[in-house]
Amino acid sequence: MEDNKLPLYLDVTAQNLSVSATLAINELIEEKEKNQKQQVLHMGFGEASFPLHPLMKNALAEAASETKYAPVLGIPELRQTIAEFLSNQRRMTFKPHQIVVGPGSKALLYGLFQLFEGDVLLPAPSWVSYAPIARMAGKKVIPVQTDSNAILRLTAKNLTDAVKQARKNGAHPRILIVNSPNNPTGIMFTATEVKILSEWARENNFTLISDEIYAELAFGWRKHITPAIYYPEGTVITGGLSKSFSAGGWRLGYAAIPDTKAGAKVTQGIRSIGSAIWSSTATPIQKAAVVAFSQNASITHYMHQSSLVFSHVTAQLYEVFKDLGVPCPRPAGGFYLYPDFYPWRSVLLKRGVRTSKELSYYLLDKWDIATLPASEFNEEPSALRLRLATNKLCEPQKGTTAKKREEFLWNLLHTVDDKEFNPTLPMLAFAEERWTKVIISLNESIKN
Ligand code: PMP
Repeated sequence: MEDNKLPLYLDVTAQNLSVSATLAINELIEEKEKNQKQQVLHMGFGEASFPLHPLMKNALAEAASETKYAPVLGIPELRQTIAEFLSNQRRMTFKPHQIVVGPGSKALLYGLFQLFEGDVLLPAPSWVSYAPIARMAGKKVIPVQTDSNAILRLTAKNLTDAVKQARKNGAHPRILIVNSPNNPTGIMFTATEVKILSEWARENNFTLISDEIYAELAFGWRKHITPAIYYPEGTVITGGLSKSFSAGGWRLGYAAIPDTKAGAKVTQGIRSIGSAIWSSTATPIQKAAVVAFSQNASITHYMHQSSLVFSHVTAQLYEVFKDLGVPCPRPAGGFYLYPDFYPWRSVLLKRGVRTSKELSYYLLDKWDIATLPASEFNEEPSALRLRLATNKLCEPQKGTTAKKREEFLWNLLHTVDDKEFNPTLPMLAFAEERWTKVIISLNESIKN
């Protein structure tokens, strides 16, 4: 039967949907590893996957028989615990009624985009999922250029220019989304930048969504400051279990909504959307999340140790890039590097590489390195930047059993704050060696 005779008529939104680049690259790698023996250096998929903290594991097991639906906005105990956690971490007061819990912060972002009026300003680069989520919620997405000389900084001038241009084109931007520590760049806002952008949002009556999912994975040399400190009435913070607790697959996120009358309406809006779509977040997961956010000393220590291990591998590879002359912002949190290959533009061109997508395919094809291209992060195709996820660099050798892997990672977490911490990390060594070869080869082509 011809396709157009089938009784499944796709809406325009559905026709423009694509599978997330992260998933697509994973499938490609699997294919490659099946067909050849050469090991692929996996830097395409960003995921925190330290072994689960035992207290969270026990809490989940104990709650396994809680099969009833929970309240749409989250169980009161969890909303209270997250409010206390955030009050402590962000150094400002949050009350339980400001906290909404959902099945991942992605779902909450979708709800928020549905609720807030206006189109969305999206810094370029920014995380892959914001644009599709915003578009699915019927928004226009307006890229805001960051300053590439000043390592991708977001400035008030760039924001104002983007708004002017968008209005000329008939869009009505009223929402700005920011993310620090940042995926894909690994950078964090300085205290001054946070103040400037919060003030800009307030002066321009913008709703500010601050995705702070990596906040507890800051490396320590730059302090995480939430814009909600300067703009409490207009800032929504989002976060969850996926990064600092290594529990992405548990699907639990939260949003902290301003403590105002308008904020209460947003909360009720999320309640309506949640009640229609997800009903509630899994009850046993919420019970385990109470333990996660309880500020238990051992769990707090675990989060800190996770950030130190990520800091170690990310900073080590950053130093290698720096020594090789690859421009790359200094990572401040999370588990990403964002190198720029523009110094090799002409040699790459000779190898048929003009865009970041072609660069990422070239690296996978010729060097067995999996990365994600800048074009997936809201950047122009010609920007020769790549996002490298460094989370796999602390993993043991490929082929290690699950039990040995867990022991290896616990050992890293337990020793990372020792003064003499200098572990043998086979994947980090592999990455350093492979990238060095790539750059040497590119340099040789320049000479010839
Ligand atoms: N925000 C950013 C910037 C992310 O990188 C990710 C995970 N890749 C998320 C949100 C996803 O959050 P969740 O698992 O809570 O949906």
